[in-house]
Amino acid sequence: MSTSNVSNVSNVTPGGTTTIEPGMHTTAERRAVVNAPGAAPDGNWVIVTRGIKRDYDMGGEVVHALRGVDLAIGRNEYVAIMGPSGSGKSTFMNMIGCLDTPSAGEYWLNGQLVSTMSDDMLARVRNKEIGFVFQTFNLLPRSSALQNVELPLVYAGVPSKERHQRAMEALESVNLGGRVHHKPNELSGGQRQRVAIARALVNRPSILLADEPTGNLDSNTSEEIMRVFEELSTRGQTVVMVTHEPDIAAHARRVVVLRDGLVSSDERRDAFVARIQGGGSVHETGTVGT
Ligand code: ADP
Ligand code: MG
Repeated sequence: MSTSNVSNVSNVTPGGTTTIEPGMHTTAERRAVVNAPGAAPDGNWVIVTRGIKRDYDMGGEVVHALRGVDLAIGRNEYVAIMGPSGSGKSTFMNMIGCLDTPSAGEYWLNGQLVSTMSDDMLARVRNKEIGFVFQTFNLLPRSSALQNVELPLVYAGVPSKERHQRAMEALESVNLGGRVHHKPNELSGGQRQRVAIARALVNRPSILLADEPTGNLDSNTSEEIMRVFEELSTRGQTVVMVTHEPDIAAHARRVVVLRDGLVSSDERRDAFVARIQGGGSVHETGTVGT
């Protein structure tokens, strides 16, 4: 393991001053919050998982999809989750997105213990705390961008004037203020994904969760979407994104790699990029040092 992988969060700039990236914590702080079973994390932590396991019973044979995932993600962080096929990425995303509950372990979302919640409570927390972005944009084809973005607010019972205003703000935040009356087939792939991002943001979620958000996009359009995520992150939105593309992961400020249902590495972007550019494998183990 190279020493760059175990550096702490401090970043020495060319001028010689030390800066801390927004939302980033030291490895010691992460370990402390993860190694405190039963304790509610303070408001600096949006996601804390402690020993998360998920077993699937396949008619007698048990698949251990997650085998004890410990992870702490701070407010305002921008994290990419990588890993080979079958490593547990989707299972973990379902868990942190409150679509599933673990077989064992704790999951704290925004100070609430969600791992023991009933399905009803889980659904309520999910609607309030999580904005989902998928590979397929899942827009209503006959509705305008504005109507698509307003939809979650319709379900939430928000009055129409406020709905309109909040949907407009969300569309402006992804630079689509000039396209609000266009229908999906009148928009480019990148613009459609931006509508989907605006829809995910309109409920002001604590986490934007994106599963392969560029999986259906060409590389230029992928860059366009990565610029949107970067901008949102700069403005304080916590972003967690699953991707199998190292180029895409390198846009996040921190890269977590899963392997066989466990965290195999957890690094700041610069350490990850240096490792990949140095010819290292994405899935090299033992590099934990964000
Ligand atoms: P990834 O998204 O990284 O490709 P998954 O989380 O989808 O990985 O899967 C992790 C492991 O769990 C795999 O071995 C997969 O076959 C298994 N698995 C995932 N979902 C289910 C399910 N609903 N039932 C049974 N096994 C599953
Ligand atoms: Mg998957």
